[in-house]
Amino acid sequence: MSPARIERFSNFKQQNRLERSDLILVESAADVEFRLARQLVVDLWKQGKIDMETVCDAQPMLKRNAIHCGAPIDENCPICEISQISYVAYVFGPRLPAHGRCVSSKGELKRLNSRKTKLSAYVIEVCSSCGWNHLVKIASLGGAQNYPS
Ligand SMILES: [Zn+2]
Repeated sequence: MSPARIERFSNFKQQNRLERSDLILVESAADVEFRLARQLVVDLWKQGKIDMETVCDAQPMLKRNAIHCGAPIDENCPICEISQISYVAYVFGPRLPAHGRCVSSKGELKRLNSRKTKLSAYVIEVCSSCGWNHLVKIASLGGAQNYPS
């Protein structure tokens, strides 16, 4: 690839990279429950009632997806407190892999949301350093949903 083409591709990749606002979708009442559950886990860990292996059990693939496909969040990991966390979204539904499709770009998210069939998106916060991971939200995609562009 020529340097100019690499630069154009690089710019396209930057513009197409997922951001936190892409994955927040619509706030729902269940989000509060996920936040409370998260705080409970963090509190139990800080009190020494659960060990780090239990709260930082992200699979290697999840950590890689956080680095390469995740939307970086302006927040440090609640466990190691050093690394920035990322949101990673997996979408499940008809004609998608059984283990879900890890969404890597705005374009892919839009394409999935334009499907006629209903899909479920699971957004997980992940620390690629220590392996902390927690469910942030479950949202609907596709069907009659209108995802803001
Ligand atoms: Zn961490």
